[in-house]
Amino acid sequence: MQDLGDQTGFPTRLTPEMRALADRPGVAAQFLPDLRELGSVAGLADPIGDAVHSPTPGLTHRYPDRVILRVTLSCLVHCRFCFRREVVGDAGPLPEPDLAAALAYVAARPAIREVILTGGDPLSLSERRLAEVIDRLNAIPHLDTLRIHSRIPVVAPGRISESLAARLGQGKPLWFVLHVNHADEITLEAEAALARLTRAGVPILSQSVLLRGVNDRAEVLEALLRHLLRLKVKPYYLHHCDLARGAEHFRTTIAEGQALMASLRGRLPGTALPTYVLDIPGGHGKVPLGPEYLEKTAEGWQVRDPKGGLHIYHDP
Ligand SMILES: *Cc1c(COP(=O)(O)O)cnc(C)c1O
Ligand code: SF4
Repeated sequence: MQDLGDQTGFPTRLTPEMRALADRPGVAAQFLPDLRELGSVAGLADPIGDAVHSPTPGLTHRYPDRVILRVTLSCLVHCRFCFRREVVGDAGPLPEPDLAAALAYVAARPAIREVILTGGDPLSLSERRLAEVIDRLNAIPHLDTLRIHSRIPVVAPGRISESLAARLGQGKPLWFVLHVNHADEITLEAEAALARLTRAGVPILSQSVLLRGVNDRAEVLEALLRHLLRLKVKPYYLHHCDLARGAEHFRTTIAEGQALMASLRGRLPGTALPTYVLDIPGGHGKVPLGPEYLEKTAEGWQVRDPKGGLHIYHDP
């Protein structure tokens, strides 16, 4: 049987761990291709504008103090809504000349305080190769922190070995940002992988994509966020689904996302609440999408409480 994923130009790919969960609707929809991808008419090849501020191949420098470095374009899974689906594939690690150029760019600019490793999935690199990249970053004195954005602890937890966790816990403070969208993705093995990271002293944040039919109900998001708190993972971002080609059927409206966030505020601890963000198409950066709780009126600030009540606040 021909793979529908091939027809879309983004082959089906999932790990044995995710295949084992493919009977769960919240998991299946994320990884199994859908005919609706073929009918995609809207959408952008580079929805968040990676290429707009790219001084060297693989590097994007959009904010003065931090850069993202795509150390590989490979991934162990292909999320159907991936905002880099036009480039994620088998290209493998960033070639050494490009890596060297990116590191030289960072080393020459003391204003850069953080390097964020992304991909593809940076942890799809071999442990040895990843360690080498991290060593080279640790050697740049003006970097304060490093960050890794990865889906691996969930989709291939066995790759988070004790030695890798220990490695990430050494050197410059490294913040781990886990991509996870539904509580059903989190197996006992994934919990153990996250525990290896936290025991090694690696702080973990999460980022999720708001996906129609997957996690666009308050109960579903609540279950995910509470589960993450129990695993010592601080929810960081909830991304509005980017304008990737073939992802239309996943996208909610912004108003729906705001209503969801409003329903979680007051119902969940503040520690469980991510910031709902939009990556503005064209490479203009990420901004919070609200909902808004504040309005300027003639009498002062009008503030809305989590139950919907209105209150006037005056700056003293
Ligand atoms: C998302 C992103 C970052 C990181 O943004 P934070 O708000 O610090 O998480 C940095 N650079 C680029 C180009 C990005 O797309
Ligand atoms: S894990 Fe990230 S980079 Fe990889 S396919 Fe999914 S969204 Fe894309």
